[in-house]
Amino acid sequence: MHLLILAQPLPPRSLETLGVFLEERTVQTPYGQAGPFALRQKQNAPGLWILPYFGGPNRTDPRATLWAAKTLGVQRILAWDSVIGLDHALQRGDVILPRDYIDWTKHQPTTFFEKTGAGYISQVPPFCPDISAAIDRHLPKAKPVIYLGGEGPRRETAAEARMFQQWGAQVRGLNLVPETYLAKELELCFAAIGVVAALGADRPHAPGQGQVREADQNILDALPAILADISQPPTCGCDHLQQGPVQRGVLAPDWRTWG
Ligand SMILES: [Zn+2]
Repeated sequence: MHLLILAQPLPPRSLETLGVFLEERTVQTPYGQAGPFALRQKQNAPGLWILPYFGGPNRTDPRATLWAAKTLGVQRILAWDSVIGLDHALQRGDVILPRDYIDWTKHQPTTFFEKTGAGYISQVPPFCPDISAAIDRHLPKAKPVIYLGGEGPRRETAAEARMFQQWGAQVRGLNLVPETYLAKELELCFAAIGVVAALGADRPHAPGQGQVREADQNILDALPAILADISQPPTCGCDHLQQGPVQRGVLAPDWRTWG
C-alpha cells in the first residue's frame, strides 16, 4: 500500500488518472485525528491512499499523519510539495527532487520517542533511495536539491533567503520536515517531488505564465509509472531503523499495540 501526500492543490478530477475512488477514511491516533484519506486503485495495482496536505501552524500534528499511514498499512510514502526557489538557478515551474534537508522548524516535540528519550536515528540517506530513483527514472528533468523545511504561514524575508542559500539550501517548503524523519521513526519509506511555485524573497517577483500548471501536468502524467515502479517490496532498508542506540522492535510508543 502506498500513500501520496498531496501538498499541491489540484483539481479533484485530475486524480482519476491514479485509479478509481473506493473509499474515504479518517484515522484516530494518539496525536489526534488524521485524514480524510481517499483510497484509489487501478486494475492489477496496489491501493493508493491520497491525503490532501497543506502546511500551516494549525494543521494536524504531523505525527498523527505518519501514525495513521502506518495504521492503514502503508509502507511507502511519496509527498508532492509546492516549494519556493531559493537557488537563483531555479525558475517557476521547475520540478525538484529533494536529496537532503535542513530542519528549520520549531515544532516541539516532533518525535515518537518523547517519552523514552531514545532516538538518534541516522538520517543517511535523508529520503528513501528507492522512491527517489523511481522519480528520477520517470521525471529525468527533476533537479536534485537541498530542501529547507520551514513553517508557515509567513514567507521568508530577503535576509533569510540569502542566509538559507549560504547554508546550501536550494528550496524552501513547509510539508516535508518533520514528516520525513517521523517516517523513519516508524520504519516507513518517504521521498518527495516538488514544483517551484514562487521565487525566494531576495529575487524579483516572477508573474505566472502557466509554468506551474504545466509542471503539475508533467508530474501527474508520470505518477502512475512512478508508483508502479515502487510497488516491489522495499530493498532500501527504510523498513528497519538505521544504526544508533535504538534497536528494531523498541519503538515507543508501540504502534502495533496501540488502541
Ligand atoms: Zn525506502
